[in-house]
Amino acid sequence: MDICTRVEIVRKKIERACDRAGRNLEEVILLAASKTQSVDKILEAYRCGVRYFGENRVQEGVEKINELIDYKDIHWHLIGGLQINKAKHAVNYFQIIHSLDREELANEINKRAERIGKIQSCLIEVNFGEESKYGVDEDKLFQLFEYCQKKNSIKVEGLMAIPPYFEDVEKVRPFFAKLRDLKEQLEKSYNVNLKHLSMGMSRDFEVAIEEGATIVRIGSAIFGERS
Ligand SMILES: *Cc1c(COP(=O)(O)O)cnc(C)c1O
Repeated sequence: MDICTRVEIVRKKIERACDRAGRNLEEVILLAASKTQSVDKILEAYRCGVRYFGENRVQEGVEKINELIDYKDIHWHLIGGLQINKAKHAVNYFQIIHSLDREELANEINKRAERIGKIQSCLIEVNFGEESKYGVDEDKLFQLFEYCQKKNSIKVEGLMAIPPYFEDVEKVRPFFAKLRDLKEQLEKSYNVNLKHLSMGMSRDFEVAIEEGATIVRIGSAIFGERS
């Protein structure tokens, strides 16, 4: 199956999930998770209308972004864990960083953004299990959010999570619901509006949309299995 066919299938599923949930299709961004994929493959998805791409590693992402510099309408997101010493490049190149998960990183992102006069959009990544080494623990989330609110060059736009793996995707639903609940709690507590819930991957994005996802990060369902 070619990439366009796969993109169309994913789009149809997104549409049906939105219908089931009574949500607007415009509320959901299809972000192609393009780690390990070549620039050619990315362009194939681009030609099928995909405009959002998520990279995991800063260096790999920066190389692709530079190669595709003429495609001004591509939105590049960083979805993988971020090390302090890569924060500068991350700020220089990515529109949204999905993996803000500690104060030290917030400091560095804020400093680098300030230097180039950018307000860096970020999502706070929440850790939902021992499987992921990234993300802030649930009980530290409010503290981190409050900390970031004081940073002038960071705009926290929502939350991101990678739930534990289950054979049965229905078992992931409570984790998605939990992330939505945490977002709503933050909105109430701090009287803010948070735009994004980045949750759902190839196996479970339909469930994630039913639970309120605004960004679904989809790799293998678009590009095929990674080698
Ligand atoms: C690879 C990756 C995805 C996409 O995974 P698939 O299962 O291939 O859809 C989504 N989010 C993150 C953070 C990833 O690293």
